[in-house]
Amino acid sequence: MTSLPRYLATKLATINIAKNNCDDYQAVFAQLKAHYPSIGFQALFDLYCYLSKSPYPNREQQQQLIKEYKQQPKYYPLPSNDTVSHFLQLAQQLALQAFKEDEIPIGAIVVCNNEIIGQGYNQTRQRKDILAHAEIIALQEAQRYLGNYRLHDCVLYVTVEPCLMCSGAIINSRIKQVIFGTSEPKTGAGISQYQVFNNKQVNHHTQLIGPIDNDYYSQLITKFFRYKTM
Ligand SMILES: [Zn+2]
Repeated sequence: MTSLPRYLATKLATINIAKNNCDDYQAVFAQLKAHYPSIGFQALFDLYCYLSKSPYPNREQQQQLIKEYKQQPKYYPLPSNDTVSHFLQLAQQLALQAFKEDEIPIGAIVVCNNEIIGQGYNQTRQRKDILAHAEIIALQEAQRYLGNYRLHDCVLYVTVEPCLMCSGAIINSRIKQVIFGTSEPKTGAGISQYQVFNNKQVNHHTQLIGPIDNDYYSQLITKFFRYKTM
């Protein structure tokens, strides 16, 4: 297997891409470019070799790769690892609150310029409302706070991969990034059951990042369902 050149390995390690399990060389290159604007197309060709396990592209393939890159949506720099764990930890506190209230433990936070402007935890049972998912509550609070239904410069942190309903709301709100803690194999619409954020026809705005740590962020959910079936 082609190994990742050292210059790329160090750059990828400094940002969250390394944890993103992403094999989309265009997406990874676009993220690198967001962080390191002067990086050249050499990196795209190297990523192509490494991630698609292909031989080094010939001249014609290189032109094609550059053309594909130019059709990619705009990527924003990812928050630092420290920022991600800080806000995901706060979302985890909200998930814990849901757990205490006998709700499926999921927490979400909306952040704008490092300020928390919306937060929520799952409350479907107590509110008798299927819409009362953590993400929807957090989005609604952020929209009220900003007085705008568009959340262009905001990042949503959520402990678990969003469902189809929440993913739709997130895309419609034009949030720029969604960062999730653990994947949700049964209902996840980001990477598991559907990949709605990859659909360039409907999503020009929102970049999905995760899972950040499957082992850590799945613990509360596993505990909840184990306790429920006892
Ligand atoms: Zn949901």
